Amino acid sequence: MNEHLLELKGVSYSYGQIQALHNVSLHVKKGEIVALLGANGAGKTTLLHAISGLIKPSTGEIFYKNDNITPMEPEGIVGKRLIHVPEHRQIFSTLTVYDNLNLGAYSHYKKSGKKVINEDIEKVFELFPVLKERKEQLGGTLSGGQQQMLAIARAMMAKPDLLLLDEPSLGLAPLLVKEVLNYVKSLRDLGVTVLLIEQNVMGSLKIADRAYVMTHGTIKKEGLANELLQDKEVKEAFLGSTVV
Ligand code: ATP
Repeated sequence: MNEHLLELKGVSYSYGQIQALHNVSLHVKKGEIVALLGANGAGKTTLLHAISGLIKPSTGEIFYKNDNITPMEPEGIVGKRLIHVPEHRQIFSTLTVYDNLNLGAYSHYKKSGKKVINEDIEKVFELFPVLKERKEQLGGTLSGGQQQMLAIARAMMAKPDLLLLDEPSLGLAPLLVKEVLNYVKSLRDLGVTVLLIEQNVMGSLKIADRAYVMTHGTIKKEGLANELLQDKEVKEAFLGSTVV
C-alpha cells in the first residue's frame, strides 16, 4: 500500500490558450494538512477542480487511495469520500441549516439511513455549536463566518477521508479567520486529511504539516510548513499577508 492518500503525477491543464497547470506533481499523506499557496491566478483552484473531477487534465494522472481517479466523474470521486468545499462557500441559501446538512449526506443517504445521518448531524453540531442554535435558520441569512462553518460542516456530513478546502477564510474578519483555521486543524484530529488553499499564508502554515508554493501553474517550492514559515523567499513573496 502506497503511503500517499493522494498523488498527482505530471498534471497539466489549459483553458483554451491559457495553460493553468504545467506538469504538477504533489502528494498528500493520510492524516496531513497540506497547504497550497500562491498568488492569485497561480492555478490553485484549477488544481482542486482537477482533483475532484470537475475538469480533466490534458496530461498526467491523479491517484487517490491507490486508484487512478483521473477518468472518474465527480459523483464517483465523492463516493470515494474525497470532498471539495469550493471557493465562496456555495451553500443552499434558501434551505435551512438542517436541510443543508442533510444534503451533505446525499452520497450515502440510502446506505446509512436516517438514524445514522441524525447522529452525524449531532456530531457536527458538537463541532459547530452555533449551527445547532441556528438549525432552522435559512443558510443565506447566516453571517459570512457561519456560512463558512456550514460549508465545512456540510462537507463533513459526506464523511470525507480527504477534504479539499478552497479559501475557507476568504472575506472573513481576522478573528473569524483564526477561528476557521482552528476548525480546519481540529478536522485533522477527527481523522480527516486536508488539502487547503488559503490566502492567509502565515495562518495556514501554522496549522499545516507541509506546503506547496505554486507560481504560474507550476510547483515552485515544497517543504515542511514550519520550515517554510522561516523561508526568506516565502516571506518575501507573501510579505503583507495577514499573520494570525
Ligand atoms: P485565485 O486565488 O485568484 O482563485 P488560483 O491560484 O486559484 O487564483 P486559478 O483560478 O486556478 O488560480 O487560475 C489559474 C489561471 O487560469 C489564471 O490565469 C486564470 O485567469 C485562468 N483561469 C481560471 N479559470 C478560468 C476559466 N474558467 N477560463 C479561462 N481561464 C481561466
